[in-house]
Amino acid sequence: MDTMTEAGERVTVVTRQTRVVSFERREALVEKVCPQCTRPFAGLRRARYCSHACAQRAAYARNADRVRAARRERYQRRKAERAAARDPQVAPKAGTGVE
Ligand SMILES: [Zn+2]
Repeated sequence: MDTMTEAGERVTVVTRQTRVVSFERREALVEKVCPQCTRPFAGLRRARYCSHACAQRAAYARNADRVRAARRERYQRRKAERAAARDPQVAPKAGTGVE
C-alpha cells in the first residue's frame, strides 16, 4: 500500500510491524458543583456529576416513572410465570396488577 509521508515522500508499507507512538492525553480539571448532591468537585470539563452514583441517581430521577413501570411489568410477568409453573391450569393474568 502506497502512502504519502508528512514530508511528501511516497512510501510503501511493507510490514505489519508497528511501534507504539501515542502518549497519554491530559485534561485539566475544573471546579464544579454536582447538581445531584450539590457538593463541589473537580471534574473534567464535560463531567456533569461528581460520581457515577450521582449520575445514576439523576438518570433514575429523570426517568422514575418509566423505570418503575418497566420494573412493575417485569415483576407481574414473572409472578404470572411462577403461578403458571405451580398450577398450569391457571392462565397467567398479564399486566393487570390485581391479585
Ligand atoms: Zn454528586
